[in-house]
Amino acid sequence: MIPVRDDLRALEGYHSAQVDVRVRLNTNESPTPPPVAFRDAVAAEVSRIDWHRYPDRAAWALREAIAKSHGVDPAQVFVANGSNEVLQTVLLAYAGPGRVVATFEPTYQMHAQIARVTGATVVEGERAADFTLDPAEVDRVIREHQPHVVFLTSPNNPTGLVEPADRVRQLLDTAPGLVVVDEAYAQFADWSALDLIDEATPLVVTRTFSKTWSMAGARLGYLIGPTWLVAELDKVVLPYHLDAVKQIAGRLALNYVDDMDDRVAQIVSERTRISEALTGLGVTVVPSGANFVLFRPDGHDGREVWQGLVDRSVLIRDCSGWPRLANCLRVTVGTVDENTEFLAALTEVLAAEPAIATAHATKMIDQNGVDQ
Ligand code: PMP
Repeated sequence: MIPVRDDLRALEGYHSAQVDVRVRLNTNESPTPPPVAFRDAVAAEVSRIDWHRYPDRAAWALREAIAKSHGVDPAQVFVANGSNEVLQTVLLAYAGPGRVVATFEPTYQMHAQIARVTGATVVEGERAADFTLDPAEVDRVIREHQPHVVFLTSPNNPTGLVEPADRVRQLLDTAPGLVVVDEAYAQFADWSALDLIDEATPLVVTRTFSKTWSMAGARLGYLIGPTWLVAELDKVVLPYHLDAVKQIAGRLALNYVDDMDDRVAQIVSERTRISEALTGLGVTVVPSGANFVLFRPDGHDGREVWQGLVDRSVLIRDCSGWPRLANCLRVTVGTVDENTEFLAALTEVLAAEPAIATAHATKMIDQNGVDQ
């Protein structure tokens, strides 16, 4: 063995338990595949690919289609293999050794992880106990650390909370560097930072085809930002990084906006059903603007509850051992049947598993941090 870079030795990588179960609600995917007509259209175009040629390096037709769907210029769109690769490219260009990246925890772990891999220093701001972000904490982090890149995730993962627009505006007013708003789950929420983007503002919004577009298998994500920033990213990314099949699939998916909207509406309605049922079961529920719900089975051991669900062939995300998320579990909204199975299994587990003494009162937390 030869030694890896000194600064990478302590990194652990990103893990998600893979267990063979009937109901899989752990990775925030869409529970349903894309429309059959979409798959047929992709198959027909793929059969006409010039396989011996490199794909369009600029992925221009795809960028044009994405730009049209958001009413922006194609030169404001950068595309890559999943929004994770978009984030990586941003960090390669704007973070790296000697630079500082700020996150507000708990949030999506890959922001800090990728930043560290680029050699940047990560500073972690803290959210309140109800996972909202205090403007004073935002000010403190900016003032003390002057970060080159600041991340917000809206809706946040794993909490599901939608970040108020004022928090993004505050960062744009005070941050000395780039503000990245990760909107992997934006279609499930009621506002987007896209409207704040213009050539004079160092703001980018990242999106993915993995969730609402039912295309996690394809690995496609993008960002919208100022054209000068997109031009820098095009310099950093590897040539021909986006293969011809994916360029076709992404472009054609955008012809099925109505199907996507229907799926989003169905998931939002199921999210309400799950949240209300969880509250009825006496667990603490974080209000979600995403396609998942974070909850805390107060009075029970989160890890045991997770295991009890696995024993009943239902897999959700065990966040109970993560920093700042003690005893928390996250369930992805699935099909109606999957959600019903999950709720039935959880009801059984909570009845079977002995409640432990707890300091937490059972409650529902709203977006303003007010108990309800
Ligand atoms: N951002 C957030 C907040 C996410 O939750 C995820 C997926 N877990 C991603 C980005 C990465 O998505 P993609 O599949 O597009 O790489």
